[in-house]
Amino acid sequence: MAKKLDKNIKKDNKENKDTRPNWDEYFMELVDTVGHRATCNRGRSGCVIVKDKRILTTGYVGSPIGAKHCDQIGHEMHKVTHDDGSVTQHCIRTIHAEQNALIQAARVGIPLEGSTLYCTMTPCYTCAKLIINAGIKRVVAKADYQTSTQSKRIFKETKVRLDILDKRVTQY
Ligand SMILES: [Zn+2]
Ligand SMILES: [Zn+2]
Repeated sequence: MAKKLDKNIKKDNKENKDTRPNWDEYFMELVDTVGHRATCNRGRSGCVIVKDKRILTTGYVGSPIGAKHCDQIGHEMHKVTHDDGSVTQHCIRTIHAEQNALIQAARVGIPLEGSTLYCTMTPCYTCAKLIINAGIKRVVAKADYQTSTQSKRIFKETKVRLDILDKRVTQY
């Protein structure tokens, strides 16, 4: 009987181990949860900044506090022409999830030196530069972003490690 119980516990442990997320997966699940609060449906992205496996701050894409949301009044579209002549459209009403996470840390005085940032997509060029100067040393993106060449270059140059969990490129 005891042997059988033992066997069942072992089986349980094995099953738990198989389904238990690793740290990157765990924080990425939280990024998804945080992103559900986003107020622009062009990309419900979230961000979680972590140090020593502890959450320091979170952010999601949204309008400035007190300003109307895209979900209420529509997007504030902006055309961007790239070097290769291609044109993409972006909503510029919102503060990006990464920026909001940095701002929240600043508001309550949390140093981000040496931390890891988890986010939905490879950060845009502006966010990348802010991330570098905040002292963040590793960026983990759930997916790649269509125009991430500049971000990848600057992360490499400044020795910020970039890990993209899903290499498929997100278009939006
Ligand atoms: Zn929008
Ligand atoms: Zn950004």
